[in-house]
Amino acid sequence: MKRNALYTLSALVFVFALLLSACGQASSEQTEEKKLIGISMPTKSSTRWISDGESMVKEFQALGYDTDLQFADDDIPNQLAQIENMITKGADVLIIAAIDGSTLTDTLAKAKEKGILIVAYDRLLVNSPHVDYYVTFDNFGVGVIMGTQIETALDLKNQPGPFNIELFGGSPDDTNAYYFYDGAMSVLQPYIDSGKLVIQSGQMGMDKVSTLRWDGITAQARMENLLSAYYTDKRVDAVLSPYDGLSIGIISALKSVGYGTPEQPMPVITGQDAEIASIKAMIAGEQTYTVFKDTRELAKQAAIMVDAALKGQEVPINDTKTYNNGVKIVPSYLLTPYSVDITNYEKYLIESGYYTADQLK
Ligand code: BGC
Repeated sequence: MKRNALYTLSALVFVFALLLSACGQASSEQTEEKKLIGISMPTKSSTRWISDGESMVKEFQALGYDTDLQFADDDIPNQLAQIENMITKGADVLIIAAIDGSTLTDTLAKAKEKGILIVAYDRLLVNSPHVDYYVTFDNFGVGVIMGTQIETALDLKNQPGPFNIELFGGSPDDTNAYYFYDGAMSVLQPYIDSGKLVIQSGQMGMDKVSTLRWDGITAQARMENLLSAYYTDKRVDAVLSPYDGLSIGIISALKSVGYGTPEQPMPVITGQDAEIASIKAMIAGEQTYTVFKDTRELAKQAAIMVDAALKGQEVPINDTKTYNNGVKIVPSYLLTPYSVDITNYEKYLIESGYYTADQLK
């Protein structure tokens, strides 16, 4: 009897121990399974990055991942600290849209030591061998769109001109800025060479026309200076602007000297990102164009690539030639940008659900 009771007891203990260990295993498997995706965005000052961040959180959570989304207020030390913190928290992946693509080299090396997957998001991370993938738009193509918009609006193929143009570039620490500028100049340079387009200020080349941190106030101040130095007795017919935030600053400068009336209409002004303020300016007849890059699609593509990489599957890429980061050519996936103006903004921005009609009122 006694012996039987002992057997039963030890059998029970054994089963209990088995159960306990099974539970432990299941819960550790669960925590192992929910991988953490660190998402580092540069700023909230432009709505596109908010949309990028939020769309990524949605996409990754739908795929069963945890996310840590941070915005760095366009402050480089802040972004570094946020990324270091993600590494400490045990992130499995870092998705980074850098403020300055060259400032993260040491941090990326640390991340790689821990086996973290590193994805450059929209902006290339340079001077590092540790960037696994780059997901972005066809950035040279974005510039070509801008150049073509000016070519079309001024009908440069047919009109004799000459037309006056001023050029603005993006932030010199963002490789995208050079692709945008070069793409635009691939269309505009022949007209400048032939004299059909004239830059009264003579300011061209990224060393002369760039705008640090993509700052609209800086662009506004530069435009004011250009207008007072070169255009008191001349009209500016076009302004190449690579970002809507700059375009809004440029428009303010132009308005302050009387542009935007039937006698003195606005010049042709480009932009990028289809920001709400710029679409409103387009509806008001102030900004001529923007370039729409669907951040929802970019976020989705980032999630698809990361998910494939983490599962050891083939990662979809469509460009292995363009993006040399100074150390290696980073395998990339490029999405398509679209030219937007008053004739098609409803199709691209409202019908697609990117904005509601009310947001643009
Ligand atoms: C992005 C643009 C954006 C700019 C300013 C670039 O890196 O590609 O879409 O307009 O940064 O935020």
